This record gives sequence, structure tokens and C-alpha cells, in this order.
Amino acid sequence: MVETNSKKLFEKALNLIPGGVNSPVRACKSVNKDPLFIQRGSGPRIFDVDGNAYIDYVGSWGPLILGHADYTVISSIIDAIRRGTSFGAPCDLEIELAELMISFVPSLEMVRMVSSGTEAAMSAVRLARGYTGRDIIIKFDGCYHGHSDVLLVGAGSGVATLNIPGSPGIPADVTKNTISIPYNDIEKFNEVMAEYGDRTACVIVEPVAGNMGCVLPVPGFLEALRSKTSEYGSVLIFDEVMTGFRVHKNSAQGYFNIEPDLSCFGKVIGGGMPVGAFGGKREIMECLAPKGNVYQAGTLSGNPVAMAAGIATLKQLKEPSFYEKLSSKTKMLVSGIKNAGDETGINICASHIGGMFGIFFTDIEVHNYEDAKTSDLELFSKYYSKMLSRGIYLAPSQFEAGFVSSAHTEADINATINSALTVFKTIKN
Ligand SMILES: *Cc1c(COP(=O)(O)O)cnc(C)c1O
Repeated sequence: MVETNSKKLFEKALNLIPGGVNSPVRACKSVNKDPLFIQRGSGPRIFDVDGNAYIDYVGSWGPLILGHADYTVISSIIDAIRRGTSFGAPCDLEIELAELMISFVPSLEMVRMVSSGTEAAMSAVRLARGYTGRDIIIKFDGCYHGHSDVLLVGAGSGVATLNIPGSPGIPADVTKNTISIPYNDIEKFNEVMAEYGDRTACVIVEPVAGNMGCVLPVPGFLEALRSKTSEYGSVLIFDEVMTGFRVHKNSAQGYFNIEPDLSCFGKVIGGGMPVGAFGGKREIMECLAPKGNVYQAGTLSGNPVAMAAGIATLKQLKEPSFYEKLSSKTKMLVSGIKNAGDETGINICASHIGGMFGIFFTDIEVHNYEDAKTSDLELFSKYYSKMLSRGIYLAPSQFEAGFVSSAHTEADINATINSALTVFKTIKN
């Protein structure tokens, strides 16, 4: 084995950073690989410290809808940064990003900026509890809403990948009001609401689940969440940290035409900088301090450099047919890979929406986390490794979504499909 630069850096990192990474999924443990250290990105490609190029379908786990180092985004960041990195006082860019978000997403009347998706979801839940004066939270197995204590129950993403039930360090007392039930199970949801609805502060859901792979809501599921929460006076929270501006210009709520009471954002709205936001009905949002007394704060919230990156990103999403082009490229990729599976006798359940997709190695239709777990993880692991060695960079887990950016070309997509076909031929049993 040659000692690559990535390998050398990883060995050094292992001594200094737990597991060598600053976020668990990056470690590539479930696919038995060591992570690559990335030197730079450009459009649809990333380049590792050994000079290898990859077509990237991770996109920093969702934010980079315009691809890497988009010229306008980078220029806006540079403009902002020349004026200083942070003031801890209001700046006009916060208003501009809030206005842009509100102009896209009809359910937003007010927004509050934070610095990560975790913070957005955690704060939205606190706000819902403060607003309703109730304690119970209902969530869905395999959905991930960041790593705050109350939401790390039956979670997706790294928790699913590492196959751990929850996390030590979270007292049972803290999660005793969190109920997690199967995604897409309308009957179960109605049952739980019949029992707990009048004590339920909020129902929080990924309107398209993207942290157990990519799982679309079945017809009627989001509608049931909307009608039952209204009936019981619970707050409906759409966690659109991944789906926001990723699946449709009005986000998943626009695509499915359901208005939640509160929504969480992150990823795309930061253009690759650390940004999160939550927003929704004025009546609820005005319960936040300093207008109301539900406390929430952040030293770097609304940071001008991060706001500039978000503004430069969202403005480009206004371009007519942006999402049509993105969706058709994603569809082309997913149907190409599915066809390659059919041709080689490999069972695939594929899904896609906007610039987001998922490929499960299973012969059943995947509607929830239990279904997702029927996937052949060994086959996935082989597929992952062989695609990587052919220059295709995928999320190193069966339980993560993939992302296409506007920078990916049809040639990139075709090259990826051809690689998948070649790889399928070699890994079939
Ligand atoms: C990524 C993600 C989060 C967490 O966001 P961070 O910025 O990683 O804290 C929360 N919810 C969903 C749906 C996500 O995809």
C-alpha cells in the first residue's frame, strides 16, 4: 500500500481530533475506508490532497447547490469580509437574506438566523413548547434534526450509519417527552395524536426524509400531519434544513403544497458558510426574545460573511427554470443508475426530487427506516469503494441522500452512469 497524503493526514488527525474527524459521518467507517482529505473544489468536482479529482455528489452534505467555489458566491464573501468578519450588531445583510427567504417560502412571515441546522431545529422546538405551554414532541424514526438532546431519539444520519440506538450523555429524563414513530405511517400517527395530541407541543418532520437515504412522503402523510396538528393546536414544524431550496424553489412545503407553522433551514441558505434559520407564523415567532420571552441567542447569528454567501446563493435560484434543469439532471442520473441495475440484475429502489436523490440496494419500496434497513449494506460498501476509485464521490453511507448541483453537466452525469454500470458488473455477487 502506498502511503497517500490523505492517509498521513488522517493518522495525524486521529491523535488530535476524536476519530480524526469533526463530524462522525466523514470518517467513512461503515464502508471500511479512511476519509480523503480535500484540498479544493471547483464546480461539480473536488480534488483531494493527492491530486485526484472526483465528481462530487455530496456537495458538503447539501449546501452546495451551485457547486463548489461558485464565482458570485465567493466574490460576495470577499466583498463582505473586507468590511469585517463580525459585528455582533445588526447589519443590512440579515434583512436582505430574511426578505429573500420570505419571498420564496409563503409560510414564512418572520425568520431568526442561527449558525447551524441543529440550532434551528432545537430552537424551533423550544419555541413551539414556549408558545403552546406543552411538553410532548412527536418525531419520526430515521429523521435527523441535528444533535440536540431532545431530538436525538430514533435519529437518522450518522446515528443510523453507525447503528447506535441513541447516545450516552442524554439523560432519559430529557427525552421522556419525545415520541418517535415510523415515517409515513398515517395510522400510527393518528393513534398517537388521539392519545397525546392535546399535550403535544409540536410535530417535527423532514417533509422529504434525507437522513435515512432519500425517502419521499406517501400521499396523504404530510396532509395528515397538517390536519391533526391543527385539530389539536400543536405546532407543525417542517425541518427543511436539507430540503429547503433543494427540492423546489418554495422548498418541500411548496412542492407538496402544505403550509407548516414553523420551518427550519440550513445548508443551502448558507451557500457553504455556517448558517441556519427558523421561521414561520408571526404570532409564534414573536414569542421569541426580545419581543417575547422564549430565549434564544447567538454571538455569530446573522454573521455578515455568512449572510453574504446565502444571499448570493438564493439570488441565483431565482433564475427561471433553475429547478427544472436541476430536477431533470437528477432524474437522468437516477434513472440511468436504476437502468444499470436492471441490466446487471442488481435490485435498486431509487428516488429523487429536485436536486436530491437516493439509491437503496433493496427489492422493496422504501417508505420508512425499517424498509431502508433491508438494504444490502455489503453491496453498498463495494459500490461505494469502486465508484470512488473511478472518481465518483458519494456519501459513504447507504443512509444518506445524494445531491446534484447546477454545476454538474450532462457529461458528468453520463460518466457517473457509465461508472455505475461497470461497477455493477464487477460487484454482482
Ligand atoms: C443537516 C440537517 C440538520 C443539522 O444541521 P447541522 O447544520 O448539521 O447542524 C438538521 N435537520 C436536517 C433535516 C438536516 O438534514
